[in-house]
Amino acid sequence: MDVVILGKGKSGKAAQNLLSQAGFNTFVYDDKEKTPIPSNPAFVVKSPGIPGTHHIIDRFKEKGIEIIGEVELGGKFLKGKVVCITGTNGKSTTTAFIYHALSKLHKGKVFIGGNYGIPVCKFAQETDKNSISVIEISSFQIEDLKDFRCNISTILNITPDHLNRYKTFDAYVKTKLKLIKHTKGKVIINKDDEQLKGREYSKFLTFSMKEAGDIFFTGKEVVISNEKIPANTFPISGYHNIQNIMASILICKEMGFSPGKFIKSIQDFKGLEHRLEIVRVINGVTFINDSKSTNVDSLEKALLSFEKVILIAGGKDKSIDFSPLKPLIKKRVKKLITIGETAEALKSVFEKVTEAKICSSLKEAVVKAYENATEDDIVLFSPGCSSFDMFKNFEERGKIFKLIVEELK
Ligand code: ADP
Repeated sequence: MDVVILGKGKSGKAAQNLLSQAGFNTFVYDDKEKTPIPSNPAFVVKSPGIPGTHHIIDRFKEKGIEIIGEVELGGKFLKGKVVCITGTNGKSTTTAFIYHALSKLHKGKVFIGGNYGIPVCKFAQETDKNSISVIEISSFQIEDLKDFRCNISTILNITPDHLNRYKTFDAYVKTKLKLIKHTKGKVIINKDDEQLKGREYSKFLTFSMKEAGDIFFTGKEVVISNEKIPANTFPISGYHNIQNIMASILICKEMGFSPGKFIKSIQDFKGLEHRLEIVRVINGVTFINDSKSTNVDSLEKALLSFEKVILIAGGKDKSIDFSPLKPLIKKRVKKLITIGETAEALKSVFEKVTEAKICSSLKEAVVKAYENATEDDIVLFSPGCSSFDMFKNFEERGKIFKLIVEELK
């Protein structure tokens, strides 16, 4: 039987391997290569990077050929329990927290993957009835879910992003909320989030930084049932990480592991590369790499983590409105250095509230930031935009930032 796979990236390749092992004839299509493909395959597997509006999809849809996503395909082979993590920001960090804890606490095999970088199709066949799969799931992957069901999930937050792929913010919100339908058990949600608060589902368990919830933060400690856990026992700092940890605690509790055990198990968690990562301190100036910051919300959380910074921001234009950040930029940014496609736009939004300058390269921006810094300053690289205007991806962008910083005298 013929199957067409759309996209030749990691997801496409993993889907191809899985399907060839299962005895299908696989044909992988990629826009760059335009390899000939059969016009009447049994079904089509779509990588998350391919938008649903792609012309090739219309061709198959017209013929009534079933189109499924890579997670949907992998999901058919998953055994054991499945946890899904989504949200505009914090997915990878929360996925890593849960995986880190479960790897120590759970007696069966534990897998990590999905949008985290390991396609579900890659590990699905290794799962068994005692295993737990911890899956980071993006809106692009949720879009393509049909029969997939996870046991428990979390929606960490929903804030503007990917408005170049979704026609409206509302369409993006709806896609994220679709995960609720694909969850058999509880859905852990952020009660403070503008898009999530006020929605009532019997499935919901809530976390909050502001008010009572199934787990909530008092300003000093996290409270769950009768337990109180001081935030200073958490292995990484940051307002947003308290949210990520609260969601992780609720997930692990639902899976049978107490909050106390969870916190103990993550004590050696080091944080992920490119997320508020301390690179180097030179002459009292601290350089922070937050290359994974690709939208307004992640930039806001980065700014909330420091009192005063020299900020380097900018990148690919995703039609996002940055003006809500004006008060925070005014309060916390001593100097703003902008780069990339959005350099002009960011400068013009913020130049009334702080000193702003455009640089033509990341190197020029880092050098300029260093020249302007004095002892105890923080140079924060939190682009608030994706990287594809100047770099291959956020990892390359972060690595280049770190190399430039390492070379500073
Ligand atoms: P994702 O996988 O959803 O992109 P990451 O954990 O990789 O999330 O973090 C992406 C960016 O968002 C980083 O800049 C990080 O500091 C920031 N961030 C992490 N958790 C949160 C959160 N709960 N809310 C807002 N921003 C967050």
